[in-house]
Order: sequence, then structure tokens, then C-alpha cells
Amino acid sequence: MKLAILSRAPRSYTTARLRTAAFDRGHQVKVLNTLRFAIDLSTDEPDLQFRGRPLSHYDAILPRIGNSVTYFGTAVVRQFEQMDVYTPNTANGIANSRDKLRATQILSRHNIGMPPTTFVRDRADVIPAIERVGGAPVVLKLLEGTQGIGVILAPSLKVAEAIIETLQSTRQNVLIQRFVSESRGRDIRALVVGDRVVAAMRRVAKGDEFRSNVHRGGSTEAVTLDPAYEETAVRAAQIMGLRVAGVDMLEGQDGPLVMEVNSSPGLEGIEGATKLDIAGAIIDFIDNQVAFPEIDVRQR
Ligand code: ADP
Repeated sequence: MKLAILSRAPRSYTTARLRTAAFDRGHQVKVLNTLRFAIDLSTDEPDLQFRGRPLSHYDAILPRIGNSVTYFGTAVVRQFEQMDVYTPNTANGIANSRDKLRATQILSRHNIGMPPTTFVRDRADVIPAIERVGGAPVVLKLLEGTQGIGVILAPSLKVAEAIIETLQSTRQNVLIQRFVSESRGRDIRALVVGDRVVAAMRRVAKGDEFRSNVHRGGSTEAVTLDPAYEETAVRAAQIMGLRVAGVDMLEGQDGPLVMEVNSSPGLEGIEGATKLDIAGAIIDFIDNQVAFPEIDVRQR
């Protein structure tokens, strides 16, 4: 097949691994800078230009859309969808998963375990909202934070209220979420490809940090997931319209609690921890979808 990886970071570990995996399997593969496309809307036929020239035909794309370019990046992916080029992750799926509130709203309708979460605006509603999710200590999250930045553990109602007020005064939206204390400092990342988990790891926070992000100094170990965790991860990815996703889950008392579904999961940490060829699994999945298209029900 002829595959385009949409990425602004051709030399990053993940993009390089995906390109090599495709090349080694005999595919034609190019890494195209997401921001160098032009979406031409003047004609009936949907079309794309790349670096000022008409784009040649591709069988599939693999979008790796960074957080800072979500709007333009998803517009490019949507244009490929209109041109009937296969993409494992739809523009809607990427946009929906990027917004923590929207993702939580979508997942909450499908019986997926999640930490109790609430979203309020008025000052008068803050304390009752915190109490509804179980009181302090409570987790506060900026809606578009990543890598653990903007995730705060507020020890008391007073501190939580002050933080929310401060953030709102700078026009930031904050989610209020129950602190899942039994999972303190640990979480699970499951790498979903199609309808299975191809790799999973546990991330463990450093010292007394409660956030287990690798960017916050967390360490990783390979894990074999219980079926409940596998099933939850696959369902969460599918509900979001993502066939390649990193699903982050806390280990709650009664099983998995989904925190986030990531549409551009990095492979370095999880391939390092598991020694599995995840890039190869992603390329094989896309190749299979191009060769034997399944009826796509992801019109969300
Ligand atoms: P980001 O998208 O910035 O990584 P997350 O929502 O994944 O933000 O949170 C970062 C880390 O904080 C998680 O990996 C987890 O270790 C911890 N964490 C997040 N939410 C909770 C929670 N409700 N209870 C306990 N720990 C949490």
C-alpha cells in the first residue's frame, strides 16, 4: 500500500518507527508535514495540495496530530476522509478525544468506568460539585492539559476553590474529578489497535508525586491486563472513533476507570517497557483494512 504518515516530527521515535515498520514490510511510505497541506474547496471533488502541488494518490493515512495543531490537523484528516482515503483515526475521533470534557461526556453514555467527574462554571456551584464527587482531596484538571501539566491534587475544599477561581479568572476551564486514592501514583496505558490491546504497561509515579506521567519522572513496567481492562480499553477507543489509541486507566476498587483516550500515542515508552513491535502491529492493521475494508460504523 501507499501510506502517508501525517506528522510534524519526522525524526521523533514514534514517527521513525512507524515509517521503518512500513518500509520493512514493502509498503511505500512518506512522512508528510501536516501543516504543509492546503485544503482546496473550490471544486466538487474534494482535493488536497501538498507543498503547493497536487497530492498523489494514497491508500491510507496515519495521522499523528499534535495538540497544538488540532484544528488544522483534523481539517486535513477530514479532507482525506472525504477523498475516501483510509484513516484508522477519524477527524471527529481525534477532536473528541482531545477535549477531556467532551471525551468524558461521550464515554459516560456507554457504561465505561470513569472517575466521577463534574464541570461547573459559577463560583457558588464549586463546593457542592467537589462534595458530589467525594470531597477533598480532589483532582482538578485543565481541559486541554497534557503530560500531567494542569492536573492538580487539591488537599482541601478551600485550596480547591482558590485554584478553580484563579484558573477561571484566566479563562481556563477546569474539570473536578474524584481522587482515586487506591490507584495513587499508578496508572495503566493500553495500546489499542483495531479490536485488541497489542501492548500494555503500568506507569508508576516518582516519589510522592501522584501523577504517573513519564514526563513527570514516572517509570514503566510491562503488564498483562485482566480481560476487564482489555475490554474497557478496546470499547473506549472504539466509542471515540479511534482504531489506534492509547487508553489511560486508573486501577479502581471495582475495576478500570478510564481517564483519557489518546489519539496519537507515543511508542517509545511502551515499546521500551514491553519489547513488542507495536509499530509493526499498527502498520499491519492499516494494511489489512486497506486490503479488506470493513463496513465503517464510526459516523459519530
Ligand atoms: P494528562 O492528559 O495530562 O496525562 P491525566 O488526566 O492523564 O492528564 O492525569 C495525569 C496523571 O495524574 C495520571 O496519569 C494519573 O497518574 C494521575 N491522575 C489523574 N487523574 C487522577 C484521579 N482522578 N485520581 C488519581 N490519580 C489521577
